[in-house]
Amino acid sequence: MTLTTALTRRLKRPELFRDLANDLGSSSADLRKRFAVLNPSTGELLAEVPDMSADDARLAIERAHAAQEAWAGLTARARSNLLWNWHRLILEHSDDLGAILTAEMGKPLAEAKSEVLHAAAYVQWYAEEANRIYGETIPAPSIDRRMLVVKQPVGVVGAITPWNFPASMVARKISPALAAGCTVVLKPAEQTPLIAAAMFNLARLAGFPHGVLNLIYASEGDVIGRELCSNSKVRKISFTGSTEVGRLLMRQCSDQIKRISFELGGNAPFIVFEDAEIDAAVDGAIQAKFRNAGQTCVSANRIYVQSRVYAKFAEKFTERVRLLKVGDGFDPNVTIGPLINEDALTKIELHITDAVQKGGRVRCGGRRSASFGTFFEPTVITDVDKTMRVAQEETFGPLAPLFRFDDPDDVVRDANDTIYGLAAYFYASNLKRVWHVAEALEYGMVGINTGRMSSEAAPFGGVKQSGIGREGSRHGLEDYVDMKYLCMGGL
Ligand code: NAD
Repeated sequence: MTLTTALTRRLKRPELFRDLANDLGSSSADLRKRFAVLNPSTGELLAEVPDMSADDARLAIERAHAAQEAWAGLTARARSNLLWNWHRLILEHSDDLGAILTAEMGKPLAEAKSEVLHAAAYVQWYAEEANRIYGETIPAPSIDRRMLVVKQPVGVVGAITPWNFPASMVARKISPALAAGCTVVLKPAEQTPLIAAAMFNLARLAGFPHGVLNLIYASEGDVIGRELCSNSKVRKISFTGSTEVGRLLMRQCSDQIKRISFELGGNAPFIVFEDAEIDAAVDGAIQAKFRNAGQTCVSANRIYVQSRVYAKFAEKFTERVRLLKVGDGFDPNVTIGPLINEDALTKIELHITDAVQKGGRVRCGGRRSASFGTFFEPTVITDVDKTMRVAQEETFGPLAPLFRFDDPDDVVRDANDTIYGLAAYFYASNLKRVWHVAEALEYGMVGINTGRMSSEAAPFGGVKQSGIGREGSRHGLEDYVDMKYLCMGGL
């Protein structure tokens, strides 16, 4: 697959990224159907990508399976060194990776570069962690026995990633898998295959053996998803995306009781108590709501503000939202890029119309932006309540609904009243309240007096219908290893 000049003219080292292969080499897929990847800000064609089939996926799985034993047989140090090489190359080419990411996904270049660095941080973390996959010795109940636990790679991993963080999601799945000794078949989202391909290109330069990493592009996820779930050579599925697709994959994996780890949708509450530092809470809410134009699974979807500080918060917050600049992510002044597609625009419009019909008041924004593409003005709505769709559904766009509350117990109850349980945030200063609320929120991650908490050093993941398992930190490795108990008798 070859990148068009619309993209290569933005790269410092176009020769390195112009021709992006996958590990299938000259697969028959190259000769067949292709799908277009467009810049959502301009409509420019960036590449025509081979549209692969279930047969291509099977081939990739075969290759991963053939490479599995040798890869698992390397020393941890050898796998770690390769991850370090990859890390160095990602850092060295972070400007180009950032440009590819902005071109195909739309997010502002500064955010894209920061995502690439975040991706590199996962690779670094697991380069280190590869050397620390310790087992256990268990004090045996009888003197003539020894009892041990060793950790072994689960085997071939099928990974499926979304478009909203297309670099860091790739790194967050692949790095722990490789560190643990697993081989991988990755299917990135159809909107963002290029950044995955660019990262794979660097992985090849880093020296990973043939067959260890395999990339499958497809214009629709279901064909490849079905093959990954039903092929018995794939031992684990690692998926990040919507809860709806997560449910489907879980059913498809059930025939073989395949191991799964899922990072799914969210409906994050962001609570501002009256004892909060209001300016800090406004800063945190802007970050938690509008990063990536609100297209994050941890986006502050419902902002609850206690009555005594509601008017003050609403005014300061709206003032800040008005300063956000919508446009092409390559414009250095832009802070809000386009939404990923027309459906995303329709959803946000539906949420606004529904809220306004039920008494919500638009304080700023509320419309599509005039220029070409899928741009939407950052929007604040006040006077919202829990009967509205904004309270119940993940908007996944730049819409901030501000709910009013009086009773701290009620707000925690409302915050928990959702099928999701990924991230929650709150701002407060009273220590008793801080601990009580942190413990009462039914979420996998809670940000206290901060609007941003994702880190390679911490376990990322949700409870309820937001997912199963954790990514990042030492816990992120556990999903890629099997525990084996060894017992030796007659000693
Ligand atoms: P999506 O579920 O539609 O797509 C995600 C991936 O799944 C893509 O690669 C897609 O091609 C693939 N896919 C789609 N249908 C499939 C099928 N039937 N079988 C197999 N694979 C299939 O989600 P999206 O719209 O791309 O991403 C947005 C969603 O992802 C939001 O709900 C968001 O909250 C969630 N998300 C969660 C996290 C997290 O860490 N919890 C991170 C990012 C995004």
